[in-house]
Amino acid sequence: MSDCLFCKIAAGEIPSRKLYEDDLCLAFYDIEPQAPVHFLVIPKQHIASAAEVDAGNSALVAHLFEVIAKLAKEQGIGSFRVVSNVGEQAGQSVPHLHFHVLAGRDMTWPPG
Ligand code: AMP
Ligand code: ZN
Repeated sequence: MSDCLFCKIAAGEIPSRKLYEDDLCLAFYDIEPQAPVHFLVIPKQHIASAAEVDAGNSALVAHLFEVIAKLAKEQGIGSFRVVSNVGEQAGQSVPHLHFHVLAGRDMTWPPG
């Protein structure tokens, strides 16, 4: 999608602090970190949110979780939180599917 921030980051048109990239996805550090470790994992393909996951793209979503597990191992973070906000009320500010990976501090539950 031409006017989507994360599509532009995936295409390299907007710079990011890249952590990992393959043909299907990209991981980069959040510009406004909410924990000592805070990165985002996104598909290169535009999917608006987790509400748009279906049989046609769920293999890609599974791949994103494989990448999350691999990066967590590489970074030595055994305890972490994976968050995907869907819609305005839940706090989604970028309408391109992304998984936040947060670690390095105590987390509270329930989330705010
Ligand atoms: P959400 O609010 O759940 O949609 O998450 C979007 C996240 O993208 C927020 O945590 C922002 O800090 C982050 N973000 C926005 N713009 C950028 C950018 N240019 N590079 C890295 N992270 C960004
Ligand atoms: Zn997009």
